[in-house]
Amino acid sequence: MKHPRTALLAALCLTASFAFAQAPAPATHGVALADIDHTVKPGDNFYLYSNGDWINRTTIPADRVAVGTFSLLADRADKQVAAIIAEAARSNPLPNTDLRRIADLYRSYMDESAIEHRGLTSIKPDLSRIAAIKTPRELARELGLTLRADVDALNNTNYHTPNLFGLWVAPGFNDPDHYAPYLMQGGLILPSRDYYLDDSQHMKDIRASYAAHAATIFKLAGYAHPADRAAAVIALEHAIATQQLTLAENENIKHANNLWLASDFSTKAPGLDWPEYFRAAGLSTQKSFYVWQPSAFKGESALVASTPLDTWKDFLILHVLEANAANLPKSFADERFAFFGTTLSGAPQQRPRDQRAVAVVNRTLGEAVGKLYAQRYFSPEAKAQAEAFVANLLTAFHHRLEAITWMAPATKAEAIRKLATLKVSVGYADKWRTYDDLDIKPDDLSGNLLRASLFEYHYSLHRIGQPTDRSEWTMTPQTVNAVNLPLDNGLNFPAAILQPPFFDPLAPAASNYGAIGCIMGHEISHTFDTEGASFDSQGRVRDWWTPADFAHFDQVTTALANQFDTYEPLPGLHVHGRQTLGEDIADLGGIAAAYDAFHASLHGRPAPVLHVPGAADLTGDQQFFLAFGQNWKSKERPAALRQQILTDPHAPAPVRAETVRNVDAWYSAFNIQSGDKLYLAPADRVRIW
Ligand SMILES: [Zn+2]
Repeated sequence: MKHPRTALLAALCLTASFAFAQAPAPATHGVALADIDHTVKPGDNFYLYSNGDWINRTTIPADRVAVGTFSLLADRADKQVAAIIAEAARSNPLPNTDLRRIADLYRSYMDESAIEHRGLTSIKPDLSRIAAIKTPRELARELGLTLRADVDALNNTNYHTPNLFGLWVAPGFNDPDHYAPYLMQGGLILPSRDYYLDDSQHMKDIRASYAAHAATIFKLAGYAHPADRAAAVIALEHAIATQQLTLAENENIKHANNLWLASDFSTKAPGLDWPEYFRAAGLSTQKSFYVWQPSAFKGESALVASTPLDTWKDFLILHVLEANAANLPKSFADERFAFFGTTLSGAPQQRPRDQRAVAVVNRTLGEAVGKLYAQRYFSPEAKAQAEAFVANLLTAFHHRLEAITWMAPATKAEAIRKLATLKVSVGYADKWRTYDDLDIKPDDLSGNLLRASLFEYHYSLHRIGQPTDRSEWTMTPQTVNAVNLPLDNGLNFPAAILQPPFFDPLAPAASNYGAIGCIMGHEISHTFDTEGASFDSQGRVRDWWTPADFAHFDQVTTALANQFDTYEPLPGLHVHGRQTLGEDIADLGGIAAAYDAFHASLHGRPAPVLHVPGAADLTGDQQFFLAFGQNWKSKERPAALRQQILTDPHAPAPVRAETVRNVDAWYSAFNIQSGDKLYLAPADRVRIW
């Protein structure tokens, strides 16, 4: 889970699993006693011990790819958002207001007869232009027109775009006081390069299904020789995949800091007509760009020149159709779901239309909805409580930094400075953006979403060169997630995650620190994970560590990566410890800081025990660790799990729960002994922060 390399979860997973069923309304406060499986030894499988009874009695709804603590809470937030949308519609808002846009976008999603009636009207101009392409220059222009602000390397960790390249506008690596354009590799419709290059039978089967699906999409749109076109496009995508970096490679900041002048592209990455590409993308006056993956730019640009023009035209046609299929007539939308929802993610059926409509409004007009959400569902008292709680975590982390013995004094001083300048924002942003001039019609879903995508792109373009606004948010308040923004040296804790079961003012301190405390500690720890450590207290990419400090950090983090490599969530498919390392460091640092903050909150008094009917009482420490284990309660379909392992910087939830095996206090809390499956000898437990 999406989202940021630095968020708690991948946005993808949350989106995929969100819906309305079984919204949680905890009758009790603190650890969910009914979810514990007392037949499992905590030292053998802490995830199953914490959640086994819930897993045994829970089935994944047919319209979901997963269900768990985060998705159940997201269900509640979605119901709240649905109420906001319904009220907006009832209030008959004035034209050209955000309230009106909310109501009309929802209506356009629900108006299936208008969708059928409009057919492919919204994308006809694109398809006609593509058909008319005759020269490499015209091809470059069309490719430039597809550029969108649809990637985000460090905040919401999205490295994937089906367009040839993706744009991310964020504070500059070398000048974090101003926004700069980052360009990233793209071009694949399937979720990652592994789906094209992996030789397992499973992936071969997926590729065969993809070929059939792509042919069907061509056929539905009336193109002749659909199977041949599909095969040619997929061969081109395969060639692109061979040029792309892996996710683990993408996460290496030091390899991403490549500032290219606009004039460099034609020599460093020949093939594409770059001046024409940038002109079409509205970037002709931009003098420089950060190029995240230079080798992929070189390789992909060369493919533009070496692949027949007709193949590129089919590539563009398929990509336009796929990008819009969900919003086109039912034959397209159903075909798209059959492949992406069922084959790739494992969900037998689609969510009800009204729930998908809420998701689209949330995604498209997120801040307009979020402003109303925050006003209605997050009181000033709740905000103050959560802010006080974060302050305790920051204090605990500060003490841990001060107590570290392996860091040189100058490095430690900068680390403490970085923690002190961390900008923590709780609940919602101080100011809201609006969607002025975005044209939303009540009967034109596909057109609305095309205009919204362009609106977002222009919003990003206008920010280039502007001073960085360190109070900005990258998540909406109605999102059940949290995020660290390395280039802003800031944290966002949205309102929607600051509710039970994560944060419950009526619950014991032990479970609040184990649940939301570990989450807050996780985000703080990202400040000092493998990526965060590349940025100084000003958000600048700088080597502020001594070589000896870095050597130690490298040694312990490598040990953690090796530990995660041993997990095998699906037969034959291991966690990629390098790919998930930043998140795993954050989880481990989060538990350590939250545990300290919990004990500090006791002021020397013993923690109250929790009486468990028919079982032994739970001590404060046991409640703390159980609350952490229950954060990761989840069931996923195998296809979705496979996609997560391959494309997500976060390890699967059950694996994250086992992080406790590195924490000494967990051993004493549950009397874990050598011989227990999760047991690690003290020397093998990884300690970082
Ligand atoms: Zn994270």
